[in-house]
Amino acid sequence: MTASVILKPGREKSLRRHHPWIFTGAIAQVSGHPQSGATVVVRSASGEPFGLGSYSPHSQIRVRLWTFNPQEAIDRSFWQGRLQQAIAARNPLLQDSSQTATRLVAAESDRLPGLIVDRYDRTLVCQLLTAGAEFWRDTIMASLVDLLPGYRLYERSDSDVRAKEGLPLRSGLLYGDEPPDLIEIQEGPIRVQVDVRAGHKTGFYLDQRQNRAIITTLAAQKRVLNCFSYTGGFSLAALAGGASHVLNLDSSTAILKLSAQNHQLNGFASDRYDHLEGDAFQVLRQLREQGEQFDLIVLDPPKFVESKAHLERAARGYKDINRLAFLLLRSGGLLATFSCSGLLEADLFQKIVADAALDAQREAQVLQRLGQASDHPTLLSFPEGFYLKGLICRVIPIP
Ligand code: SAH
Repeated sequence: MTASVILKPGREKSLRRHHPWIFTGAIAQVSGHPQSGATVVVRSASGEPFGLGSYSPHSQIRVRLWTFNPQEAIDRSFWQGRLQQAIAARNPLLQDSSQTATRLVAAESDRLPGLIVDRYDRTLVCQLLTAGAEFWRDTIMASLVDLLPGYRLYERSDSDVRAKEGLPLRSGLLYGDEPPDLIEIQEGPIRVQVDVRAGHKTGFYLDQRQNRAIITTLAAQKRVLNCFSYTGGFSLAALAGGASHVLNLDSSTAILKLSAQNHQLNGFASDRYDHLEGDAFQVLRQLREQGEQFDLIVLDPPKFVESKAHLERAARGYKDINRLAFLLLRSGGLLATFSCSGLLEADLFQKIVADAALDAQREAQVLQRLGQASDHPTLLSFPEGFYLKGLICRVIPIP
């Protein structure tokens, strides 16, 4: 018999709104002995069944709901159906030969908590991040092979979040032949080489795809600073849009090497770009001391907020880096600034950027509010799925 998780009185409220997470504090009792990742029925204090979820014995998020229909079976056909739905929603992107990298499954936002599947050309890269996704690993693998014939499947379940689930880190080939060291993808006007074995996340920041396209439209004739540049995505986008010069800044030597390769691959004249290794917080100060100025600055730092306890420190980090960027902008210049910290809400992020402008004694306007690409949707009942926020600000010219 399926084990049950019985909630404390009144704690079914979030379930009524179809929020998929149940924290340990909401649970009164677990009946039966569910193993890690096994399916459990979730019941209110009065015994009413609310749905089925996966049990994570080591995580603060003890259950993640697969379905709010207690009659639905969680089995191979459930997985086939949900995966098919997620993939079908991306069909226009899969058919578009000018975009060969796509997020196909976005975890909770596709009602499959813990599962990410990204496609880089003919390679699928999956991340199983929770005990529930791990439990169904073989089924997920078989379903993906079935639904997407002709693709190899590679696993990158090496994210630290697996530790919270009591799961070991794992990566390697699941199906097909070994991927090449670098997989070339097309993203509109640019080509990018992706390292699916060792790159960040599954290899590339697919969530910024549409924002890179916006930078292409804004970059003509501009002198650009691409801060936290990773493998060069925003720089390639700016150069494709006619930027006169891009300075890429990142703290990782290996990453900058791949970025340089990506610039060569796209055939941009080598005097149109440079790469600088260093800590952005220091280098931006140095650039300021040297009197450097830019027309467009992209700021896309790594996640500063890992937990609520880090929020204040992270806010200081965001403010500092944005203040330095404002100081380096020419009058009339543009700042494309991002935060991928889910715990930092969009309003607060905008306030931080406003404080940064004030400290830099710059007056600025927001021209556009940005988010994650449309293949990274947000389920309305799971607002946490919206994590990437961006603002395009323009420094008002001082007469
Ligand atoms: N904008 C990129 C993604 C940025 S990821 C894209 O669209 O592809 C964040 C990058 O910041 C990583 O490449 C990481 O190496 C770099 N990084 C982290 N801390 C840094 C620091 N203090 N200074 C400079 N770069 C840093």
